[in-house]
Amino acid sequence: KAIMHWFKRDLRLYDNRALSMASKLAKMEGIPLICLFVVSPQDYQAHLTSPARVDFELRTLAVMKKDLEELDIPLLVVTQEKRKAIPKFILETCEKWGIKNIFANIEYEVDELRREAGMIQTCLEKDINFTVVHDDVVVAPGQLQTGTGRQYAVYSPWFRSWVSHVHSHSDLLSASEEPGANPGNPRKYLEDIFETPIPLAPENKKLSAEEKKRFEKLWPAGEHEALSRLQKFLDEKVGKYKDNRSIPHGSHTAMLSVHHSAGTLAARTSVRMVRDANSTQRLDGGNPGIMSWISEVAWRDFYKHVLAHWPYVCMSKPFKYEYTNVRWEYNDEQFKAWCKGMTGFPIVDAGMRQLNHMGYMHNRCRMITASFLAKDLLIDWRMGERYFMEHLIDGDFASNNGGWGFSASTGVDPQPYFRIFNPLLQSEKFDPNGDFIRKWVPELDAVEGKAIHDPYGRGAKEIAQKNGYPQPMVVHKDCRERALKRYKDGIGRE
Ligand code: FAD
Repeated sequence: KAIMHWFKRDLRLYDNRALSMASKLAKMEGIPLICLFVVSPQDYQAHLTSPARVDFELRTLAVMKKDLEELDIPLLVVTQEKRKAIPKFILETCEKWGIKNIFANIEYEVDELRREAGMIQTCLEKDINFTVVHDDVVVAPGQLQTGTGRQYAVYSPWFRSWVSHVHSHSDLLSASEEPGANPGNPRKYLEDIFETPIPLAPENKKLSAEEKKRFEKLWPAGEHEALSRLQKFLDEKVGKYKDNRSIPHGSHTAMLSVHHSAGTLAARTSVRMVRDANSTQRLDGGNPGIMSWISEVAWRDFYKHVLAHWPYVCMSKPFKYEYTNVRWEYNDEQFKAWCKGMTGFPIVDAGMRQLNHMGYMHNRCRMITASFLAKDLLIDWRMGERYFMEHLIDGDFASNNGGWGFSASTGVDPQPYFRIFNPLLQSEKFDPNGDFIRKWVPELDAVEGKAIHDPYGRGAKEIAQKNGYPQPMVVHKDCRERALKRYKDGIGRE
């Protein structure tokens, strides 16, 4: 007999709600805990998970397997080709090991919610308890409502309500107990699980040897790395976060999104630790850098709340339904140039090349590149959303969809569509010396002064041309007018 914890996007031992419950029950009943993670190539494909992210997860699982083994807890990592086969496989595993209790943390995407609802039903029929709990967010969807009992569709009032809710429910930030030594002589009964190796990445998500080395260096895996990154950020950077967070050059942000998204670090842990570092010991008041960082982590919660309450955003529909009729361009050549970072707009190209190289892009550049695709090129924002997911190591459906909705003005943000980023002004404001551009667009390395933002328009044409840097592919002013008209016509056609 045994208890199961099913790992999904909660790849850690520390402060993990469902794992902690599973381990407590195992201890109480004196029977072993078995941990499971299912690799499903079809599931990765359905979620557009990037190869860098798959590699990050598998590296993390290797760290976890070792940590769990020190507690005599076996971690079984198995491949199941078809996503729909996962529940059946779990139930078979339960039968094999005499498992009567499964624990897992909730994922809020529609398919996952449906899968879990189905599993609860099947488990009931088989007399198995399947417990799913909230863990991925600080405040679970459904907890916050407006004064009239509706769901918030605007961030600022939602955030005020989020802060006040967390202050009045102190348990929300408390850490869960870590699992202890596994009871019930697991080495004797579960030896073949201990000996099962972590599978290799599925064929459709394999990295080349060079990429693997690069990502290992850029993004060391596992929860220990996540916690030390968070600590270092708190010690060295959070104080200046408010002032510096929009500067893409240098390293002014926490670079923790991959950890929040793979669950190597709980958002709850981050908020608790940063609150404890605040002079007020609260989420509001005190250090401006800390408050600003908390509100960014809260955006992550907000987008999960949007996903849970308006699940049609999972089905390629814009949050603002009236934007369904905007007529998009499907210009393959322009889309490819955007993907490669060859648009002739240096700040856009720098951002896209950062993404292609690191599997990560600074938030300001995510907004600039997304706005450029949706507004300047008028290309369907869903193509950009997809490209991001396929390349980001921190790819997270809710945050990515929310970010694209924000940038294309089709999402929850109340800003109207006629607020259109000017890439040149954004570049001058957030990369004033062009350091970020020079780092990622080496063709412009020798360009001096303000010309870096617009080499063809500001007297650096020769350098740009000599080094094969393209001319701007569109004229922003014309694009702006076209976008305004198309958005207006689209909404009008409702
Ligand atoms: P910090 O600035 O240090 O912020 C701390 C944490 O807060 C982050 O680790 C992240 O978990 C969360 N966070 C910060 N900003 C946001 C935000 N705007 N929305 C949601 N959460 C936020 N973030 C993802 O994690 N996955 C994505 O797939 C993703 N796609 C995006 C797509 C677009 C078009 C845009 C505009 C933003 C997207 N973001 C996404 C949000 C944001 O860009 C990243 O979370 C951030 O750049 C991560 O860097 P950091 O860890 O250094 O962040």
